[in-house]
Amino acid sequence: MIDVDTFRRQARAWLEQNAELKTSVAKRSFAWGEGSDTVSVFHVLPREEEAAVVERGREWQRKKFDAGYGAIAWPAEFGGSGLTPAHARAFAREEAQFDTGDGHEVLGVTMTLIAPVLRAHGTDEQKAEFLPKLLRNDIIACQLFSEPGAGSDLAALGTKAVRDGDEWVLDGQKVWNSGAQFSEWGLAITRHDPGQAKHRGMTAFMIPFDAPGVEIRPIRQMSGGASFSEVFLSGVRLPDSYRIGDVGDGWRVALTTLGFERGGDGEGAGGGQRVGGSWEQVLGLARYLERNTDPRSRQELAALFTHQRLLHWNRLRAIAKARAGTPGPEGSISRLQWTQGLTRMANVVSNLLGARLMADSGEWGTYAWNEHVTGAPGYRIAGGSEEIQRNIIGERVLGLPLEPRVDKDVPWSQIPR
Ligand SMILES: Cc1cc2nc3c(=O)[nH]c(=O)nc-3n(C[C@H](O)[C@H](O)[C@H](O)COP(=O)(O)OP(=O)(O)OC[C@H]3O[C@@H](n4cnc5c(N)ncnc54)[C@H](O)[C@@H]3O)c2cc1C
Repeated sequence: MIDVDTFRRQARAWLEQNAELKTSVAKRSFAWGEGSDTVSVFHVLPREEEAAVVERGREWQRKKFDAGYGAIAWPAEFGGSGLTPAHARAFAREEAQFDTGDGHEVLGVTMTLIAPVLRAHGTDEQKAEFLPKLLRNDIIACQLFSEPGAGSDLAALGTKAVRDGDEWVLDGQKVWNSGAQFSEWGLAITRHDPGQAKHRGMTAFMIPFDAPGVEIRPIRQMSGGASFSEVFLSGVRLPDSYRIGDVGDGWRVALTTLGFERGGDGEGAGGGQRVGGSWEQVLGLARYLERNTDPRSRQELAALFTHQRLLHWNRLRAIAKARAGTPGPEGSISRLQWTQGLTRMANVVSNLLGARLMADSGEWGTYAWNEHVTGAPGYRIAGGSEEIQRNIIGERVLGLPLEPRVDKDVPWSQIPR
């Protein structure tokens, strides 16, 4: 196998031929006033422009895939390069220095959630059908888990799956589904047996969005964009071959997905290059506003810098620990630290900017932070709220007593709702 250093050099040469070096990298420092000043957490774009961002991300992924850089640590049988996560990280570090587009959350969901979950739970036929297409972004898939009555308590979900010969008929409503409006498929958890206790009686399916009965309605967020949707399923018929895992394995599939999601922290998640701005941008802002000598701002900046360093080191520790396999509950620590960092950054820039945050005067690098401040709270909820991450850390990492779960063994159909 090619060693990481040689691979990194080859990758660098390929990137130089296929993408532009970022201005800040070329100049070896963050340059205030140059290039894009976007620090948004979610895209804040009209639908056609956001679709174009997704398309550009897909094209870049295809280009990488065809050159052997799109699925570096995946086995060759799925179109991957059969190398190690260390090779993939080396490529990601090089790639981060190039302008490769804004990326999009749904591409991250496809690559880092849906594809690994299908690898873990799919049949050989399903892996052969889906994985090469997902990894090349020939198809994009989103996560259809949450419902109006099931978020933190995901096991309360009630989307019905009724067997009809070799087919299943699905009815229900999913909500907050990131990128559903740009996806061709969704991975859904459904309830096939309401008579069983809530964590049992669930089954997972891949749903093609061109199936009759699927309706996708985008939801507008307070940041102004509409990155997620609600998805209505009305009598959607699926062949049994789209069932992921055994009948009754839905909770296991959900936990695998959430493990990957909580282990992720925006880095490499199809948007890692742009999620919410960097420390250098905050420092640049403080200098521009001449607030970097003010004692209170200095204190806040120092606390933010410390948080960012701890996040970085903790990330390295998590990488070292989880060299292979499905991430465990420790992923919740990185996740919580990352979302707290976004909030801390939002608070620091709000204090620095004051009224400039409220009105767009055209001044570079100022009002742009509005999109960070209104977007950051979304990640405190997505993938399990901060309170839920704390519960997981308390119960499953620290071994503290479990929360009382009074409905754990009650048949789902008998739980009051
Ligand atoms: C940006 C974004 C993207 C998302 N993307 C997707 C997606 O792609 N697919 C998908 O299926 N879903 C997605 N979601 C939905 C997300 O998973 C849910 O919003 C989340 O799990 C919380 O559920 P809820 O909104 O129903 O809130 P609730 O569960 O009703 O929680 C309300 C409040 O109660 C608190 N709470 C609830 N239970 C407890 C408890 N046991 N202990 C302490 N506090 C508790 C919560 O922390 C929260 O503050 C997304 C959400 C966001 C914001």
